[in-house]
Amino acid sequence: MPLDERTHAWQETGHEARLWSKRDDGVVQCHLSPRNCVIREGRAGFCRVRVNRGGELQTLNYGKSVAMTEETIETEAVNHYAPGAKILSMGNVGCMMNCDYCHNWNTSQARFVTDDVVHTYTPEQVVESALARGIKVISWTYNDPVVWHEFILDTAALAREHGLINLYKSAFYISLEGATELVDVMDIFSISLKSMDPVFYKRFTKGRLQPVLDATQYVYQRGRHVEISNLVVTEANDKEEDARKVAEWVATNLSPEVPLHFVRFHPDYKYTHVGRTPIERLERAREVAFEVGMKYVYLGNVYDNPASNSYCPNCKNMVVSRYGLIAKSSGLTADACCTGCGAKLPFVMLPESSKSPLEVPEVPATDLERRDHFWRGDVRAVHVEVRNEESVPRMVRARVLGGPNEGTVIREVPVLPNSDFRFICSKADPDDIGVTLEFPRSVGMKSYEVYDRAHFPTLEVEAAPTESDSVPLPVFLGVPSRRDE
Ligand code: SF4
Repeated sequence: MPLDERTHAWQETGHEARLWSKRDDGVVQCHLSPRNCVIREGRAGFCRVRVNRGGELQTLNYGKSVAMTEETIETEAVNHYAPGAKILSMGNVGCMMNCDYCHNWNTSQARFVTDDVVHTYTPEQVVESALARGIKVISWTYNDPVVWHEFILDTAALAREHGLINLYKSAFYISLEGATELVDVMDIFSISLKSMDPVFYKRFTKGRLQPVLDATQYVYQRGRHVEISNLVVTEANDKEEDARKVAEWVATNLSPEVPLHFVRFHPDYKYTHVGRTPIERLERAREVAFEVGMKYVYLGNVYDNPASNSYCPNCKNMVVSRYGLIAKSSGLTADACCTGCGAKLPFVMLPESSKSPLEVPEVPATDLERRDHFWRGDVRAVHVEVRNEESVPRMVRARVLGGPNEGTVIREVPVLPNSDFRFICSKADPDDIGVTLEFPRSVGMKSYEVYDRAHFPTLEVEAAPTESDSVPLPVFLGVPSRRDE
């Protein structure tokens, strides 16, 4: 595959890649994903971020990332590990798949990635950033971490040395060699299993099913914490039978105790001729999974639905309540026993996220700016991007707007000196009508509405104002999916 006609600055520098072999004629073969791309001099693999330069395979995205973002672990479809924990999300550029309905297409498809969204970080900066904010979990996420292999291995190893946890959120179309290298540094795998139908994989993702299953089983057998999510795409994989096959595979090949998440889709990229997944189809998928014998089945990207909560399968006590991206594990003891019946449940508990060790000077109230953001319809979360150009850290707070919790701080995010940062804020209670963002006047701020959990692309609220109940999204101007296939 040729590199893009218009080369961006982020594509100019490369870093030595792992997992490849060389032929005598200067052609290289990449072994990171099951595509095993054969790449001639000056050309790129399917992902467009691994190139043959001078007969060597180089990766173009080492240390190149979208803005690091503070979220909560539920954003990543992880409900049984440190409920409510803050995470530092890191996403990069490129993907080894090209799903028609991708929710992150502006970054997963490297040809759309312009220099203005690319940030450069070293492994040390990522780890320092997590530590400075009191964050214990680094999440490798968004586009797909598989194609960021080298940077992840280096950074995750360093993070572990500092006592941090690594979470890998991926479609997991990865070779067993790649998975083997990852297992040594990862603690949690949140794997997006798109369907149990090989034809679906080929048609909608341009990948293959079997390698995903093999790699998933491998990391589970190596004892890592695994949760499975299944994006239920309207009129693509939303039938009962689809859910049954996914649940049966997880129950048989992993365990009925592995958490399974059916996640609501929104139209995006090339797949926009349908609406969001009807809630009834998600609820039916969940029922089917219980019928199969799964013990913990969740719905993702839904509000006001009990299927976000965790229940003890023994006594039905609600052990973790969730609203949006806020979780409270008041029904679990510190060693993950149900407070109702004492049963030991498959949760990993961490002590509460520590407060940031940073000394952040407060600014006088008169130097604070406040911006209200109102929830409406499906708009119940917002990404906030902040820039601090001063030489001292600054604090940004999000307070509840409306309802009995009016004024309560739900996010308190330090912004390091001379840096930018992003965090997610979501509706935290049914009575909230919005959120007030409070920040020093010296801090620059932009906000981007998102559907419930993180995704790219997004449009800045000020640039794309809308009165509708939906999140404004950039429009893909290429060829949409065929509807009649
Ligand atoms: S990571 Fe996969 S898609 Fe990218 S070059 Fe390697 S084999 Fe090809």
